Amino acid sequence: MRLVLLGAPGAGKGTQCKNIVSQYGLGHLSSGDILRQQRSQGTELGKKARSYMDSGALVPDEIIIEMMTEAIEKVPAAGYILDGFPRTVEQAVELDKALACSGQEIDAVLNLKIEDATVAKRMSGRRSCPQCGAVYHIENLKPKVEGLCDNDGAELVQRPDDKAEVVANRLKIYHQQSEPLVDYYKNNGTVYDIDAENDADDVSALISEKLDSLVKT
Ligand code: AMP
Repeated sequence: MRLVLLGAPGAGKGTQCKNIVSQYGLGHLSSGDILRQQRSQGTELGKKARSYMDSGALVPDEIIIEMMTEAIEKVPAAGYILDGFPRTVEQAVELDKALACSGQEIDAVLNLKIEDATVAKRMSGRRSCPQCGAVYHIENLKPKVEGLCDNDGAELVQRPDDKAEVVANRLKIYHQQSEPLVDYYKNNGTVYDIDAENDADDVSALISEKLDSLVKT
């Protein structure tokens, strides 16, 4: 299975990817995670991406396309889920071209649907561990000790791109540049719309239902 996961920032893509990966044994390729890794390693790519990421803007297509097509070549062609990529129609077109070169294509797209107000609430309360990347929420997913990571005791931080004004910008960019991808994929293949307003377990059950039917066909 080669899958793409679409959805606004804060729709729960990361959480759902973890479930899908463990349930179906797929490789997980998150463009955001790869960029954050490049930043923490201080690479040229990480330095170039920094200002875009911190303001909530998209990193330019040519940088992302090269980074992700290289990453895809390293995962087993038989199964992976793309998380956060593609994010523009241009990226999707280039991805399709790159896959076609090796006789591959995307089998299905999962589209997590969520209201902007829900996203704003979720993201403003999100805190993450700068050391291990674990994610918490000040209301819904509290650490055992307030402000500290359960795994390594590190002080939890708010990602710069989770700050309210940046979230508003990310949502605007999502509607302008990423939402058109849903139609792109609807015209080119299978898209499963998933109601992502509910809690993570319910969303996960909806996704499993769709993917199980895909596996059977
Ligand atoms: P994420 O963790 O997926 O929310 O991504 C964090 C940030 O990384 C985004 O706000 C963008 O600045 C950048 N980013 C991640 N994926 C992409 C992409 N496919 N295209 C452009 N920028 C991206």
